[in-house]
Amino acid sequence: MTWHILGAGSLGSLWAARLTRAGLPVRLVLRDRARLKTYEAGGGLTLVEQGEARQYAIPAELPSSTSPISRLLVACKAYDAEAAVQPLLPRLAPGAELVLLQNGLGSQDAVALKLPHARCVLASSTEGAFRDGDFRVVFAGHGFTWLGDPLRPEAPAWLAELEQAGIPHGWTPDILSRLWRKLALNCAINPLTVLHDCRNGGLAEHPAEVSVLCTELAELLQRCGQPDAAEGLHDEVLRVIQATAANYSSMYQDVANGRRTEISYLLGHACATAARHRLNLPHLESLHTRLKAHLLQRGLPVT
Ligand code: NAP
Repeated sequence: MTWHILGAGSLGSLWAARLTRAGLPVRLVLRDRARLKTYEAGGGLTLVEQGEARQYAIPAELPSSTSPISRLLVACKAYDAEAAVQPLLPRLAPGAELVLLQNGLGSQDAVALKLPHARCVLASSTEGAFRDGDFRVVFAGHGFTWLGDPLRPEAPAWLAELEQAGIPHGWTPDILSRLWRKLALNCAINPLTVLHDCRNGGLAEHPAEVSVLCTELAELLQRCGQPDAAEGLHDEVLRVIQATAANYSSMYQDVANGRRTEISYLLGHACATAARHRLNLPHLESLHTRLKAHLLQRGLPVT
């Protein structure tokens, strides 16, 4: 069965290249005719691993192509996912399965609502990749991808294909807990690195601010039925700050490069969920307000 990959950016290309070299059929779905033309003129996707670049001539098509789709990897940013999936709806075969790679929460529900008859598998990945050219991606950090379906606990048979492709992964019956935990870690670290203009390690100089955010985030996780994700949150945040001290957070890098952030699906989602539960979390709210003001000042979207 063909893997259709929507979003030939950093993670989408990383998956596409590994599936292809394992001999599995892959097709890229590019946003429009101009992107398709650029892609075809370049001859394929390039993946750079340990300094070595290799090109893969993976076939690509437009969303408006007519062949049916049975397995779709959605590898767009959270803010693009719903609109990007929309034109593919008529192409989804009965029993189609989607893998949603988006960080944060909120975009997965938006996509799933459009597809009451398809299976949506959610993913949470710690792999790292970035684009250093058009259709050229650098595999920057080995990691692991958790997959799961909150509605159906049984693992899909195609996990064997990920094994074959050397994509490190695990199946979990509690993917929402993992996504919430990652969201909370992100909320406790990334916005502060933007506002304090520092690497992750710089937050060691703001222990009280980090601590109060962790307390509020743990309260939120408890209230929305994710007590496991709340367990030991502050300790893990401190560990991450130390272990990644030299790194700039993804949000920091987005802002520094004038790119749109996924704020609505991270801190924005946390604040909206707190409001829905009538939970007063003043420090988290204030962080959201300050971050939005910071983005506005730089002409970046606040959603
Ligand atoms: P990215 O490099 O910006 O790639 C996103 C891709 O989606 C781009 O190629 C973009 O096309 C494409 N796209 C957007 N709208 C589209 C549409 N309507 N039709 C077809 N393609 C469309 O993003 P990424 O870094 O891979 O991130 C994807 C998700 O994974 C995010 O939620 C991110 O937080 C998460 N994540 C990323 C990493 C990482 O290391 N990169 C790690 C963990 C999680 P164009 O090329 O035409 O712009």
